[in-house]
Amino acid sequence: MSETRTRRAEISGAGFAGLTAATALARMGWSVRVHERATELRTEGAGIVLWGNSLQVIDKLGAIHDLMAESMTPPAYETRMNNVIQTQETLEGVRWRTMTRSHLFHTLLTAARESGVEVLPGSEVVSATAEGRITFANGDSAEADLIVGADGVGSAVRDSLGFPLKRERSRDGITRFLVPRRKDELQKLEPDTNWDHMIDFWNLDPRVIRVLYTPANEKELYLALMAPASDAEGSRVPIDLELWTSVFPQLAPVLADAAKTPGRYYGYQTTRLESWTTGKVALIGDAAHAMCPALAQGAGCAMQNAWTLAVAATAASDAELPDALREWERLERPYTDRCQDRSQWFADTREMSKGGQFSGDNVETALYNPTDPRRHEGVAA
Ligand SMILES: Cc1cc2nc3c(=O)[nH]c(=O)nc-3n(C[C@H](O)[C@H](O)[C@H](O)COP(=O)(O)OP(=O)(O)OC[C@H]3O[C@@H](n4cnc5c(N)ncnc54)[C@H](O)[C@@H]3O)c2cc1C
Repeated sequence: MSETRTRRAEISGAGFAGLTAATALARMGWSVRVHERATELRTEGAGIVLWGNSLQVIDKLGAIHDLMAESMTPPAYETRMNNVIQTQETLEGVRWRTMTRSHLFHTLLTAARESGVEVLPGSEVVSATAEGRITFANGDSAEADLIVGADGVGSAVRDSLGFPLKRERSRDGITRFLVPRRKDELQKLEPDTNWDHMIDFWNLDPRVIRVLYTPANEKELYLALMAPASDAEGSRVPIDLELWTSVFPQLAPVLADAAKTPGRYYGYQTTRLESWTTGKVALIGDAAHAMCPALAQGAGCAMQNAWTLAVAATAASDAELPDALREWERLERPYTDRCQDRSQWFADTREMSKGGQFSGDNVETALYNPTDPRRHEGVAA
């Protein structure tokens, strides 16, 4: 890069994608502002699983120590059908971590602020241009060298630029809760179970109903309750406690907590765009590639793309930037596309109920290291 002035990036959305891109760019010398529509900086949802691809990025952001403090790696991922164990995967060689969303969010927000990023709550973006102008709901606008649309599934940056997209909805969905672990009570109900495991409790017959049990740390449990959107009782919030405890009696104490916790049923969806960039604008995260949560990689892909975008933009001069963004998409997008396809296939077929899915091609994304400078050696130009 020949310019010596500080380049300016304007980012729409302070979610996992936006905060990661902001911190990466700031650490690479950019002046960065993140605009968040919400007046309060926080994240929705309950818990989250991160894999090696995003953990490598958090290493590079200098935030891994904070992240590790209140997160855990369960000793195994267990899959049960009608409460019969199908597989117990110890995921040797795969780096992974479970945590609350709020912990991940505050870790990324702290890293952003410590890197000099200006995070602006109550700043809604309404549009952007390929030439680098961003406009806000209050009528103000600004010029930027790079605009990042990280504003989620309903992205204003994306829609104002008219990026063509295809959205597919799957038949299943999930309601998520964060509740106390209650390990002692669960141990009494089912003494042979290791309640530190992440446990995927499936039932397909006579009714499709599933609980994904994820310890998020020593004290908090992330419960994801899955049912088809067409099942009015299964997808009801507050949850139908009698229904859920009749199928999962061993989880009664934590389901009782979930019944008292506010929640929202999310139908799975996949968004595919023809392209992720135009001129000085790049889209990342759910704005570009919302995916079904089967492989737990939506945020992981968002963070890996945020990092590689920052690297590509920093290496390019102003004049080269649009081409550099296109090249970034050409090289990085195939990893996300394949992950999206696999996640949608698992959601459509419910094949995860058989267990044993964390091997072979299915861990390609988890094992991908977006921070390795040699990662595209040998890829055709
Ligand atoms: C049930 C479920 C389970 C999941 N589990 C996992 C998992 O275990 N692991 C994983 O990696 N992923 C998981 N995901 C996916 C993950 O949650 C998302 O992919 C990720 O949160 C997307 O982050 P984002 O920053 O792109 O978007 P968002 O989190 O949607 O953030 C976008 C931000 O932009 C703001 N915004 C929106 N519009 C504007 C605007 N016009 N101006 C300014 N700001 C705006 C929003 O308020 C928000 O703060 C799961 C998803 C679901 C639904």
